[in-house]
Amino acid sequence: MAGTAKGKYEVHFRLTLEEAIEYAKEELDFFSKDSKLKGEEIGDGNINYVYRVWETGKDSEGKSIILKQGDSLLRSSGRPLDIRRTEIEAKALLGYDKRSLGLSPKVYRFDPMMSVIAMEDLYHHQNLRKGLLEAKVYPLLADDITTFIVRNTLLTSDLAMDPKDKKKSQKEFINPDMCDITEDLVFTEPYTDYKGRNVILQENCGFVEKELYKDRELHLEAAKLKEIFMNRAEALIHGDLHTGSIFVTDDSTRILDAEFAFYGPIAYDLGNFLGNLFFPLAYHRLVNVDAEKGLTREMDFLVWLEQTIVSVVERFVHKWKQLYQNRVTDPLYSKKDYRDWYLDRILRESIGMAGLEIIRRIVGDAKVEDIENIKDREKRMKVERVLILTAKDFIKDGQGFKDGRDLMECFEKAIYDVEKGDGKDDEE
Ligand code: ADP
Ligand code: MG
Repeated sequence: MAGTAKGKYEVHFRLTLEEAIEYAKEELDFFSKDSKLKGEEIGDGNINYVYRVWETGKDSEGKSIILKQGDSLLRSSGRPLDIRRTEIEAKALLGYDKRSLGLSPKVYRFDPMMSVIAMEDLYHHQNLRKGLLEAKVYPLLADDITTFIVRNTLLTSDLAMDPKDKKKSQKEFINPDMCDITEDLVFTEPYTDYKGRNVILQENCGFVEKELYKDRELHLEAAKLKEIFMNRAEALIHGDLHTGSIFVTDDSTRILDAEFAFYGPIAYDLGNFLGNLFFPLAYHRLVNVDAEKGLTREMDFLVWLEQTIVSVVERFVHKWKQLYQNRVTDPLYSKKDYRDWYLDRILRESIGMAGLEIIRRIVGDAKVEDIENIKDREKRMKVERVLILTAKDFIKDGQGFKDGRDLMECFEKAIYDVEKGDGKDDEE
């Protein structure tokens, strides 16, 4: 997969837009040598540089490509960040291509010297987070995401992979800098603010103090899940499977941005995805839908989204059992009792992980548009409180949950509790 670096690309340097266009022309066997190329920088994250390069001119076939380049310094703050993450991303994407039935962009070439991944341009796809905020329905979403998670995790776990191959692969995906980001931002900081980086809506400071900083039982559960994240090298997980890492059209789903990939707990991927569905749910339910105004499109969207949450859990279980039946041959692991115990553990832990993801997006400094774009401060305060209470139940009581309907009930109960308490915390 690695391209041969030569000449000016032998030593890593950060490409400007002009250099990215030149690189696409000179280094990749993708455009014809006499084609006229244009480009733009399309990266919207704070870590890497992403360029789209395309052919222009009336005879052109309109071909285009994406170049994603990693640097040893973080794009936003300039602090050092292990550049090997880009190689890890390229390898993870190539694995998805083999295992997950075309649910990720094709990697055309990876250049280890320049840390550049050249990949398929998903130009007609939209960021799922934005689509859900616009109340768009994606009929294939639950099916595609569960296929992606089940195939990529079960087939890279000791259940289905040769244990020696798995250990070799594990070594290639040791990803300390990216894991460190998650360990801090998802697991520790939201509950302790020990680095003083949490960003909290003024009106919710007392609420967060009481519900998050002072809840010792919650800290215990968060610590248990953190320890699982750090030590359970169960399968090759995506590690950042939120709705901004998923690109969609009405009839297509693609998962990208795999730089957080490592051997970790399967529950982290399923939980991350499930947790992120609660942001558009809360937004449309509590901010956007006003029954009196009869927003029928948003109402239909909410019905679909609730069904999707239920369906993700159901389909995950169904597909897991099916693939297990076909691919798990170990005389002990293949026993039904063990299969059911393992699956039950994934589901329980996923619900806890979903709760952690919800909380970190509300109080941590890596926010989501779904919440930040709520202009009405009263409504934002309420949405945040409902989500925090929902998430706390996921983390503390998720053990007893059986299916997606239990998650929805928990969300409705949180709305009731916040409305009953008139959205006030003890200190107001
Ligand atoms: P980062 O790791 O820096 O967050 P991402 O992989 O998320 O980078 O890419 C940043 C943005 O670039 C994406 O949100 C998307 O808009 C665009 N992008 C990345 N890869 C592709 C692709 N294969 N096709 C189309 N757009 C892409
Ligand atoms: Mg990223």
